[in-house]
Amino acid sequence: MAIATINPATGKTEKTFDPHDSAEVERRIAQAHAAAHTLRGTAFDERAGWARATADVLDADTDILAAVMTTEMGKPIAQSRAEVGKCAAALRFYADNAERFLADEPLEDPSAVGATRAWARYQPLGTILAVMPWNFPLWQVIRFAAPALMAGNTGVLKHASNVPQTALYLDGLFERGGFPAGSFRTLLIGSDRIEAVIDDPRIAAVTLTGSEPAGQAVAAQAAHRIKKSVLELGGSDPYIVMPSADLDEAVSTAVTARTQNNGQSCIAAKRFIVHTDVYDEFAEKFVAAMGRLTVGDPMDESVDVGPLAMEGGRDDLIELVDDAREAGASILLGGEAPEGPGWFYPVTVIADLPDSARLVREESFGPVASLYRVADREEAVHVANQTPFGLSSSAWTTDPEEQEFFADRLQAGGVFLNWMTASSPQLPFGGIKRSGYGRELSAAGIREFCNLKTVWVA
Ligand code: NAP
Repeated sequence: MAIATINPATGKTEKTFDPHDSAEVERRIAQAHAAAHTLRGTAFDERAGWARATADVLDADTDILAAVMTTEMGKPIAQSRAEVGKCAAALRFYADNAERFLADEPLEDPSAVGATRAWARYQPLGTILAVMPWNFPLWQVIRFAAPALMAGNTGVLKHASNVPQTALYLDGLFERGGFPAGSFRTLLIGSDRIEAVIDDPRIAAVTLTGSEPAGQAVAAQAAHRIKKSVLELGGSDPYIVMPSADLDEAVSTAVTARTQNNGQSCIAAKRFIVHTDVYDEFAEKFVAAMGRLTVGDPMDESVDVGPLAMEGGRDDLIELVDDAREAGASILLGGEAPEGPGWFYPVTVIADLPDSARLVREESFGPVASLYRVADREEAVHVANQTPFGLSSSAWTTDPEEQEFFADRLQAGGVFLNWMTASSPQLPFGGIKRSGYGRELSAAGIREFCNLKTVWVA
């Protein structure tokens, strides 16, 4: 895949980039490796100051950076600005909390292990490779980098090939905030060159956010070298609506949950599983609200949904919807890609899906919602859990006993009750089943790439 900015709203190639040759990759890994030695010798306070200054740089660059992101991957411009703000907040969060998250953990009763003192200490692993996707081109990277650098690790980034300008912006960002030179370096390479980077003894571990095939490849390569990996992969999150729910609130949140980021979010609600008592009303209101969204130029402030980021992604979505139609599903809204430039796809709602339809089990990475009618909460959980994914989930009910039921039974890395799934620096983020393993964000995220060292004193 060429490393290039291709505007998805026009299909026009704006800028192409030569990949880094092997000498340049070597130079950048060497810089990150050297910086890891420097960074692990710095104090939390010092790193916190640099992280806060990095957040200030982001704030100052918001408009210019948002325009770059929207040009490269097509999300509505206001959502790009919001993404920059979220990244600045995450940097400040880890500046405030990293020391507490990584404090020594003394053993309460050291005599039980024959010691006078014993404790566990978190120490950085070194240089971590991050393989990242284009859908939140800044946030996916910062949610790895902010905790990693605050822990004293350094990072090398292999970003998605369609967001090179964002990737190069990130290359300079942390140094501008004051971090030692080389603390974070971008490698402009194709995915066929990742294995050689993983093989490099100076790379301690790898994190990947992206599709299942990419996760399988990178995790296998890391396992072969006995290196730790964290995988944040796809999802087909359920959104359950029970009769006690505030239906209007459930409908308006459902629209946002399915269509924000042009529908290209791993944690987007993709399957709407509605109790039969409220199904007809939910479906009618949902289709009406989805139909009111405007699809168009993502630079236009009034547009709700921009184009899909890549032509191939739109082709995949067209195939999924055509498959559902051929299997006998009802297309309640949208479902036909428009003619003309850009990779637009209409906001689409599909119901009456037979089990054989691919949409029942596969991820739809675009503004396509599927509706399921269920008789009771047991059937809701059955339908929710029938995909191979387990990223997050949402359930709408005001009954406390039912809330507990869903919190307990949904097979996912998260359950959001009466709200849509959203990632926050304060909460662990990650999946089970084929959505991956490991956690980002919160205390769990910063500890993933640390050596938890046991210290025992006689
Ligand atoms: P992708 O094609 O897997 O790309 C992600 C990254 O992996 C890119 O840097 C890509 O490089 C690289 N890559 C692709 N194939 C690879 C391979 N065989 N070996 C090594 N690296 C490879 O995914 P995407 O289309 O950008 O993103 C969509 C997917 O990511 C969806 O399934 C979505 O749900 C998932 N996602 C998950 C999360 C999460 O947190 N769980 C968040 C966002 C997205 P190139 O660009 O050079 O191919």
